[in-house]
Amino acid sequence: MVTARKIACDCPARILHDSAVFFTSQENNVSFENLNLHPLILKAIIDSGYTSPTPIQEKAIPELLAGHDVMASAQTGTGKTAAFMLPALHRLATPSRTHSRGPRVLVLTPTRELALQVSSAAAKYGKHLPRVRVVSILGGMPYPLQNKLLSQPVDILVATPGRLIDHIQRGRIDFSRLEMLVLDEADRMLDMGFIDDVASIAAATPESRQTLLFSATLDSEIENIGTQLLNAPRRIQVASQKARLDNIEQRLHYVDDVSHKNRLLDHLLRDITLKQAIVFTATKRDADTLADSLSAQGHEAAALHGDMSQRDRNRTLTQLRHGGLRVLVATDVAARGIDVAGITHVINFDLPKFAEDYVHRIGRTGRAGASGIAVSFASGKDNVSLKKIEHFTGQRIASHVIPGLEPRFKPRAGGSGMPRNTPNVAHKRSRSWSPDNQRHVPAAGSARGDWGDSRGRSFSANRTDARGNTVTGNRSSPFGNGRADTYFRSK
Ligand code: AMP
Repeated sequence: MVTARKIACDCPARILHDSAVFFTSQENNVSFENLNLHPLILKAIIDSGYTSPTPIQEKAIPELLAGHDVMASAQTGTGKTAAFMLPALHRLATPSRTHSRGPRVLVLTPTRELALQVSSAAAKYGKHLPRVRVVSILGGMPYPLQNKLLSQPVDILVATPGRLIDHIQRGRIDFSRLEMLVLDEADRMLDMGFIDDVASIAAATPESRQTLLFSATLDSEIENIGTQLLNAPRRIQVASQKARLDNIEQRLHYVDDVSHKNRLLDHLLRDITLKQAIVFTATKRDADTLADSLSAQGHEAAALHGDMSQRDRNRTLTQLRHGGLRVLVATDVAARGIDVAGITHVINFDLPKFAEDYVHRIGRTGRAGASGIAVSFASGKDNVSLKKIEHFTGQRIASHVIPGLEPRFKPRAGGSGMPRNTPNVAHKRSRSWSPDNQRHVPAAGSARGDWGDSRGRSFSANRTDARGNTVTGNRSSPFGNGRADTYFRSK
């Protein structure tokens, strides 16, 4: 039986047509049938159990079908993949007039995981269309297999920028019939130092292409890229970070040391309301060590990080998807883009270095309209990171204690620096710690936060990437040793 799912997001979508601004919302009750998508694509949407378009789909699909370039701010979890993939497939339903074997649609993504997700979305939504051939080109896979894949006709090419540029430079890709270029999670590609590669790839494609840019935020750097690569784009904004987090209850546990973290984690994992969890650690080695120790304690746990081969990563993710794994211990990059509905909890064993990663981490729970719980452990050393996170999300994280596992550590008074007048928050949650202002909860209480709404980016640093370019955002390369490619036919 197909169960209809709907993303809970009643946030307004904003479209900026050049200088004009329109505010619209889901009250319009647009249905997929009204969007004029090809009937075989509609059939696949019905098979997927979607009952109505999400705000980003409702706004982006008509603009894309009308042939406009689009710049959209939308997070993962808003249905952004279908927002670009459905119009892309709609194009493919009409044969190309150019005789070539090259891709008609190119999607660039920052990570392998996201590329794999986009590829499976293409297969899912294109399954009733005849002969849609989807190829993923990611780093790490032997060149001969990729060369073979690229020598055959390709309709949709999903790639991470680094390896794709190698193939372009070797003259292995014919872009003469390319109609659509999608930059997915452009902000992340910028942070990772891929933006020069993205610009070179765009330069290798026909100017007549339709270009789409999706990003978590449309800040000035992204606007700049948009101005260079897009032609009179329609701008669409949906689902702010805050709106995306509203279905996720965030909790903070102050901790004394690693052994305290381990005891808290063991306690949380024994909660029967926890169906599946992702536990984030700071390093790959910590992910391995923690996964081993959890397995030894009897938890169904496994690690996921960038040093694992793609085959092992895929195997672990498949296990997670099929419910064969209850606890995934992961690093940021490896876990990015994971979309598994059963994840009820995200646990930050170590806080992320970057506030933005906190949002990506906790977004692994509360998928497709479900609610989720995000628990973070913080010690005295984490005060600055905590402040950055709370500034970035505009939300204070309520601190909780578990009876018997109280911290000896007393966090410094003074709060996170969040505005005192944050609605519904300041009067309830003072960051100055005392046993009285912490919530005592059983492992999975249902206390839900009321969130403030100010937010701002609190970090930005320059660095030099592996290619010697200076890039913004102090990120390390997303790629570990093992890289792999995937390929499948949708029919
Ligand atoms: P994305 O933002 O593309 O990562 O999508 C998040 C999740 O929403 C995925 O699991 C999709 O299958 C699901 N999804 C996409 N569009 C819809 C829709 N219109 N109704 C319900 N679920 C959707």
